[in-house]
Amino acid sequence: VSRFGGDEFVFAKPLECADWQSELKLICDGLVDALCEPSTMDGLELFVGGSLGVAVYPDHQKSMSELLRCSDMALYEAKQSGRGQWSIFRQELEDRAKRRKRLENDMRGAIINRDFFVEYQPQVCAGQRKLKGFEALVRWQHTEYGLISPLEFIPIAEETGLIVELGEYVLRQACQTAVDWPLINGEACLVSVNVSPVQFFKQDLVATVLRVLSETGLDAKRLELEVTENALIKDAEDAARVLIALRAEGIRVAVDDFGTGYSSLSFLQQFPLDRLKVDRAFVKNLARGGNDYRIAEAIIQLGKSLGLNVIAEGVETQDQFETLTAINIDEIQGFLFSPPVSTAATLAMIVKANEIKNAFDDCLILDAAPELGVGA
Ligand code: C2E
Ligand code: CA
Ligand code: CA
Repeated sequence: VSRFGGDEFVFAKPLECADWQSELKLICDGLVDALCEPSTMDGLELFVGGSLGVAVYPDHQKSMSELLRCSDMALYEAKQSGRGQWSIFRQELEDRAKRRKRLENDMRGAIINRDFFVEYQPQVCAGQRKLKGFEALVRWQHTEYGLISPLEFIPIAEETGLIVELGEYVLRQACQTAVDWPLINGEACLVSVNVSPVQFFKQDLVATVLRVLSETGLDAKRLELEVTENALIKDAEDAARVLIALRAEGIRVAVDDFGTGYSSLSFLQQFPLDRLKVDRAFVKNLARGGNDYRIAEAIIQLGKSLGLNVIAEGVETQDQFETLTAINIDEIQGFLFSPPVSTAATLAMIVKANEIKNAFDDCLILDAAPELGVGA
């Protein structure tokens, strides 16, 4: 056993049984359990815990340095899957690490090259079925790997800090696009932009947003920023200050993925908010009467009693739509109406919404974007 540096330690142990996999499992389970045992120091009970990454000689590598590199990749995976886990190296981890490294290296150039682009997903008023606004969602058209999901590259951008530049790029694109949107039946169409916790704390978000608004000419009242609960909880006082400043400028604030984070209720009191987005997880299993149904219902009631607008995301079926409407949801977003679409398709939807005037029915958006393979 040796200390490798910082909070990293290396264990080397011969595997003696023919069935070394079972032996390894026994050792690793034992180590993780031992690390997770509380210990006492100066009368204080301490919980330390630890994660473990394993590489096996000679199966994975033959040199010490390469073995360490492999175990480090396994350790990364173990940490990703939560505290107190262990993982063993697999080739797949190396491929994943290589792809990750490549994306990390290519990201800055891709922002400059405009390989990132933004799609827009409509948000529809549930009662009247009127188009109200769009959420901006970023995509990466990578020169070699093709289209990459934000679920893969946003965490990398957050880790490297590039999310600050990328976030500003998306914000500018979204504002520029929204400026050109005509009114919908006399009302201004909103645009929602996702903001990462890192952007909250690594830059002067208020100044950036105001600069982009003035450069693009978008009315502040038409912009909404989506933040997650966890972003706000991290440094609640600072976050509240930022939100207050944004709202003083007329910018709206929505809490994204509501119900999946800490969801402390005092949080709703502490922060100035305009709307809650009920997370897709609750919408998915909305069968009448189940727990997810009750949670969705409670979130809607809670939001409304606080004077907030409540929107459900990930609505895919007519059944979910009707259930949510029956429990008074304000707005709906999801594949039922449309997936995120290009700037051109977005404009076509608005034009169509105006042609049909008040009767914004769900077939409208489906008609507007037939090439998008929308199935409802
Ligand atoms: P999110 O903010 O929760 O965005 C909603 C995600 O749900 C989008 O995935 C959207 O395409 C997907 N979605 C919409 N309707 C449905 C539906 O009916 N069913 C299902 N199964 N999914 C639906 P997408 O575009 O892959 O984005 C994933 C996440 O990446 C977003 O989750 C958001 O957290 C993040 N993201 C996307 N764009 C940005 C951005 O510009 N900045 C930041 N910081 N994060 C972004
Ligand atoms: Ca969002
Ligand atoms: Ca969400």
